[in-house]
Amino acid sequence: MIVNLYGTSAISEEGHLSVGGVDTVKLSQKYGTALYVYDVAMIREKARAFRNAFEQEKVNYQVAYASKAFSCMAMIQLAEEEGLSLDVVSGGELYTALKAGFPVERIHFHGNNKSEAEIRMALDAKIGCFVVDNFYELTLLEQLAEEKNVVANVLLRITPGIEAHTHDYILTGQEDSKFGFDLQSGQVEQAIVQATSMKAIHLLGLHCHIGSQIFETNGFVMAIEKIYRYLARWFELYGYEPEVLNLGGGFGIRYTEEDHPLPVGDYIAAMVNAVRAQLGNEMKIPEIWIEPGRSLVGEAGLTLYTVGSHKKVPELRHYLAVDGGMTDNLRPALYQAKYEATIANRMNEPKEQVYSVAGKCCESGDMLIWDCKLQSAIAGDTMAVFSTGAYGYSMANNYNRLPRPAVVFVENGEAQLVVKRESFEDLIRHDLPLKQAIISK
Ligand code: PLP
Repeated sequence: MIVNLYGTSAISEEGHLSVGGVDTVKLSQKYGTALYVYDVAMIREKARAFRNAFEQEKVNYQVAYASKAFSCMAMIQLAEEEGLSLDVVSGGELYTALKAGFPVERIHFHGNNKSEAEIRMALDAKIGCFVVDNFYELTLLEQLAEEKNVVANVLLRITPGIEAHTHDYILTGQEDSKFGFDLQSGQVEQAIVQATSMKAIHLLGLHCHIGSQIFETNGFVMAIEKIYRYLARWFELYGYEPEVLNLGGGFGIRYTEEDHPLPVGDYIAAMVNAVRAQLGNEMKIPEIWIEPGRSLVGEAGLTLYTVGSHKKVPELRHYLAVDGGMTDNLRPALYQAKYEATIANRMNEPKEQVYSVAGKCCESGDMLIWDCKLQSAIAGDTMAVFSTGAYGYSMANNYNRLPRPAVVFVENGEAQLVVKRESFEDLIRHDLPLKQAIISK
């Protein structure tokens, strides 16, 4: 009997966790652990849900995948297959997108400190749009675009004074953030006036991103209302109205059973309705763009580990260590992020033990999950940690000189390796030996 669990995950006849029709225990044997596994059907489903929601609202739109959540060539190609646009924030993310053959006109370039070289690279590639973060960048972009005799499409990133995180909204006047032009103090108005007078700049509109892991629509609605209070004035004063309004990402996902994300259509309907409600008689509805990262790939990814050592602290805690940790999933150490797990080769056994899942790095803070209910586990078992698809691989690092894991895509009973595991050789690839002359001194 195959029992369906979540997305396309299921319990196989041998009592193993399977994803996309592939046995995860076999995956761990074939590709080794730690291993990132992505359920491709689930990524497609999420992408289509966002796009369908916009189609239903009958507005012009772009859904740009925020590739910082997980960037590799195969993922970028999957985003292209699903008709998404792409948000990149560095020369490296842009390079990956270009090498993956992503349509340049659908690439949006973010970042609060784009270098001259990065801007030149993006201008040469003829990307669709720059999300300009500050006055320094606006002037630099104009100069470089002029030099190349091209016109750069621009969104101005604004900080609307509304920060949303999960269920909390923080209303701030001038937002104390390294990102964007401040709305309250007149910076946005000044930037609009400046950008519209620049020959090498075409001002497409405005952008804001209010936070992450958001479970309600109010924050987006509040931001839209606030932005339109200003837009109404600028329309009167300058006849200015944006062609595009980009409302960022941040749509919440389920990491643990405490998380209750909304269907994506709810966010989109609330956003479009809020914009429509603000337009008045004369302003036209802009094209609405969003840039989800986590909500496209987070729940579709899981990480497989092999269980190793146990340590019991009598009457206090039972530590269970795995062959990865903060090197492949920095989020618990960085944000105290919570996860759920299972023992993938013991899916039919009850979860009667409470373990704290430790990584193998030389840091006490290298804990993946505290006090997690799991099946009784022994060394050699395969553990699966769920919802690691966003900001897992992309924040992976080589602390303690651990090689970065491989990434596998699974779909319709087939697995495909999309990122190779790093080798020890890879770890020293850029090292140069100490010069003999220095050693002998
Ligand atoms: N857009 C911007 C400007 C961001 O800073 C981020 C995340 O940091 C995103 C989009 C993606 O956010 P999420 O992955 O929470 O959807």
